[in-house]
Amino acid sequence: MGNPRKSAILLFGPPGSGKGTQGAVLGELLGFFHVSTGDIFRALDKESELGNTFASYSSRGELVPDDVTIRIFNAHLEKAQKNRDYSPSDDILLLDGIPRSVQQAQLLEDDLDVLNVIHFAANNEAELINRLRGRAMKQGRTDDAKEEVIRRRLEVYAQETRPVLAHYDAGIVKTVDAIGTPAEVLARVLAEIAPLQRDYWAARASAG
Ligand code: ADP
Repeated sequence: MGNPRKSAILLFGPPGSGKGTQGAVLGELLGFFHVSTGDIFRALDKESELGNTFASYSSRGELVPDDVTIRIFNAHLEKAQKNRDYSPSDDILLLDGIPRSVQQAQLLEDDLDVLNVIHFAANNEAELINRLRGRAMKQGRTDDAKEEVIRRRLEVYAQETRPVLAHYDAGIVKTVDAIGTPAEVLARVLAEIAPLQRDYWAARASAG
């Protein structure tokens, strides 16, 4: 028998919708482990082959190929488990930036038990572009600095990523309004995930 599937909540939404901001805060809570594939990719050695591969796609606003992405994601989780930062039996994964294509969702199906998909809804494109521009200045992200790359990222989201929502049962997809202050959005996300964590802890306790 293989390993049991890892429990996960997906933080899902377009670039600039605030998934990363919320994921970083929620990941500080006991029982959640935040994984951002964008952060994992940006931490790669820029001189390495993988680092180069990442830069060649992200600088154009394109997705890194699915097989490479899944490999790096799995390696990150294995390492976190080894270092005892993450325990699959105790922690719920908060996945930020993955799966980002229907094929990634399919490749992860045997490994992940997706409890909920938090959909950060942000239809205000001008607001998203403003947020991304602000982030470019603060974090020095080259993929956020150019208007044409930002536009391409939003297009890729619409074409390749948004269809992932329909891959999951509509009953587990929870839409939150991503327009508001970070604290307001946090309150909306917590209203969805607090009951999930309570049920998860109760189920664990009764399983002994
Ligand atoms: P954003 O949500 O603002 O687009 P991220 O930090 O999540 O930014 O990702 C930055 C870049 O990393 C993406 O534009 C893409 O090139 C790459 N990337 C991150 N996650 C994935 C993924 N799951 N699959 C493919 N590429 C990814």
